Amino acid sequence: MKESLERLISLSRQIGLEDRRLAILGEGNTSCDLGDGTFLVKSSGCSLSDLDESGVSRVKMAPILAALDDQTLDDSGVRTVLEYSRADASPKLPSVETFMHAVCLSEGGAKWVGHCHAESVMSVLCSEHGAKPFLGHIFPDAIVVCGRHVAAVPYIDPGLELAREVRRVLREFCAAHGSAPKVILLENHGPVALGASEKEVLNILLMLDKWARILAGTLAVGTPKFLPSAVSERIDQRPDEDYRRAQIVKGPG
Ligand SMILES: [Zn+2]
Repeated sequence: MKESLERLISLSRQIGLEDRRLAILGEGNTSCDLGDGTFLVKSSGCSLSDLDESGVSRVKMAPILAALDDQTLDDSGVRTVLEYSRADASPKLPSVETFMHAVCLSEGGAKWVGHCHAESVMSVLCSEHGAKPFLGHIFPDAIVVCGRHVAAVPYIDPGLELAREVRRVLREFCAAHGSAPKVILLENHGPVALGASEKEVLNILLMLDKWARILAGTLAVGTPKFLPSAVSERIDQRPDEDYRRAQIVKGPG
């Protein structure tokens, strides 16, 4: 647990680095599954850039998931769930996006999750195009790092409602593609990266940031020239790309 906590703090600070423009102030949140029915998640209101132990909550998975099916919960009920779901005596409340993190960790095939409000990605997600430009690919590395397909969610009130919609979209995505996405794009809000490690989550967010900047550039110059889907399929399936993907995820450390 101590090692996971340190890795989560390090991932959070990497996402919060000011010049990356992925998150400022209290924006964004991170989580990791501890594999014992609990997970670590950023506490509400804390900043990713200078996160420390006091800004991380350990939360029980079961009460959070149960809340998703409880249609009677209002705002104060949600707060109560967040209070009693804490696995340790901590004065801070887990982030209101704890519900979404629980969905990604339990149904998204992820061990680590990072959500931010990347300026570049939001430039596209907050435009009239929404998530649509990300549904086709324009260069190979985005396929290798961010996955062949990404999931998209229309704007929903953050918190419990959003988590329910993310769960619905994730289930639909898994049924259509046979596995969970690495990226969920929340329109008018920001991206979510789902990874096997904290390194993979950071890689996904950095590549997505680059992808979004290139997309915005192509939209400014003209229209993006999308790769034919057979080409994207081929890149996704190539054994050498598979090897490269494994190396990228492992990283140097
Ligand atoms: Zn957010």
